[in-house]
Amino acid sequence: MPDIIQLLPDHVANQIAAGEVVQRPSSVVKELLENAIDAGADNIKLIIKEAGKTLIQVIDNGIGMSQTDARLSFERHATSKIKKAEDLFNLHTKGFRGEALASIAAIAHVDLKTKQEGKELGTLIKIEGSTVVAQENTTTPKGTSVAVKNLFYNIPARRNFLKSNSIETRHIVNEFQRVTLAHPNISFSFYHNDSEIYNLISSNLRQRIVAIFGKKTNEKLVPINEKTEIVEITGFVAKPEFSKKKRGEQFFFVNDRFIKNAYLNHAVSSAFDGLISNNFYPTYFLYLKVPAKSIDINIHPTKTEIKFDDEKTLYAILRSTIKHSLGQYNVTPVLDFNRNSSFDTPYQYKSKKVDTPKVTVNPDFNPFKTGEQKSVKSPFKKETKEKWESLYTGLTIENIEVESETVNSSLFSETKSNSKTYQIHNKYLVSSIKSGIVYINQNLAHQRILYEEFLENITVKEAMSQQLLFPLEISFNKSDIHLIKEIKEDLESIGFLFDKILDDTIVVKGIPVNITESQITIIIEQLLEDIKNDVPETSFSQLDIMAKSLAKSLAIKTGTKLDLKEQEELVNKLFLCKQPDLSPFGKTTFVTINLDEIDKKFNN
Ligand code: ADP
Ligand code: MG
Repeated sequence: MPDIIQLLPDHVANQIAAGEVVQRPSSVVKELLENAIDAGADNIKLIIKEAGKTLIQVIDNGIGMSQTDARLSFERHATSKIKKAEDLFNLHTKGFRGEALASIAAIAHVDLKTKQEGKELGTLIKIEGSTVVAQENTTTPKGTSVAVKNLFYNIPARRNFLKSNSIETRHIVNEFQRVTLAHPNISFSFYHNDSEIYNLISSNLRQRIVAIFGKKTNEKLVPINEKTEIVEITGFVAKPEFSKKKRGEQFFFVNDRFIKNAYLNHAVSSAFDGLISNNFYPTYFLYLKVPAKSIDINIHPTKTEIKFDDEKTLYAILRSTIKHSLGQYNVTPVLDFNRNSSFDTPYQYKSKKVDTPKVTVNPDFNPFKTGEQKSVKSPFKKETKEKWESLYTGLTIENIEVESETVNSSLFSETKSNSKTYQIHNKYLVSSIKSGIVYINQNLAHQRILYEEFLENITVKEAMSQQLLFPLEISFNKSDIHLIKEIKEDLESIGFLFDKILDDTIVVKGIPVNITESQITIIIEQLLEDIKNDVPETSFSQLDIMAKSLAKSLAIKTGTKLDLKEQEELVNKLFLCKQPDLSPFGKTTFVTINLDEIDKKFNN
């Protein structure tokens, strides 16, 4: 047998390594931004085209590279940041593996331009799939520009695996936010397809947070400051009444590096115990400084997990610091004259906000009826009463039978309505049916009804809209505005009408008929959170998430009393649905109990 082992050629090894470092355009953004920071830049520009699929460029004014270093920087394990293993325990830079540029150059076309301070000429290097295709002197400003084009051009499977532009952009925005929040003193700008997404000037942390998340954020922030022997904690948490229904803005930075840590997150949440209701999440921007040697950063390059020496103590300090700060904020009002006085009563305000989405069923509203309102082309329209009876196989509602009988009992004479539905515990609707009894969960059933209505509206793009008497202005942060622009058409297809979409404000002039004005903000916020959190895989699933999100927000809640008419409407509509038995999230909407089963209980 001949020997069969051989060393992989460099470009193959690099491609394999690249798979680890570069999952998607946002990974390149992270690596390039971090290199610029490590190079001591105080002004960094990010330019992307087509969600980073055609171009990702980072331009910095850092120290630049010599000609030799510029060439070397693309070699694997080439780094200026550590020299020996011990350095790993005293890291002060973002990078240290010397893998990023080599990996990126293996799977893209890269143009590097760099010049050191005081030098007349800089260096230009062009690399395509690990092969240097050009190297020459060039005039370029001090600092470095790395342009990464046609990512994954030589790995079609990877390229095809990339998600839609809106999804990839969202990943990039997330990465950009993490890096810029970690370094408020550095100026950053961000352009996508030539339009400016962010322009962040060097500032303090509070100003940086506000610049990213919008003017309104300022009044929400409670400062956190604590210095102990093992950790220094600074940053902000949002006042309890501004907590979100989804894990949205939660940022931990350790030694200026964004991290995720479920344990510490729990410490923060527990500091909010009793201040926010169960299914709400606090917003926070927390910065921990610990001695570099007390953390183990030697982890996978793209992972954000981190290990601490003494997590338990850290947990306790974090929790008590935040509790303390929240307590202080509650007793001593912040000196801020522009403050909205409603923030003085966090508890009241909070509970009000939670209760807002109360929906009253409009008994005259019927999407299947053509009337004075704009009609909807309904794929479900064919499904008439007969259809629901057949869906209801074996479950013929009693009242249909009863109608032909002479009802002589005075017990029934009061219920003139031919419906025999009862609501129990403001939660279930109970109806007697031929074969026994049906129990319907009002909340889940209504979710199903609304879900199908919204899906239908979205697909036929012809929804009913009610004009607002006074257009409503709502503020959002820039990236949310970006997202709103992306889904604007879909929002319009379910009945929203926008007067304007500005930089940090939207002006709504029309809303879907089945929502009320007071619900608009919470519904749009919830929707954006849901889309961000579910990171839809396709534009179809984005529509699906929208329909689900709205259905969930708007469905009649458990605990809502329904009158007979509303109950009847709910039952009728449910059984007109395509799939009445499941909520949009796959939960059972109704159960039936057969007469046999009831009989059995008496036959003992
Ligand atoms: P690492 O950051 O882990 O050292 P990289 O592959 O990202 O590895 O970069 C390799 C080297 O190239 C860095 O150590 C640094 O010396 C140099 N380098 C990369 N980007 C820049 C930049 N923007 N400015 C100056 N030097 C840079
Ligand atoms: Mg690096």
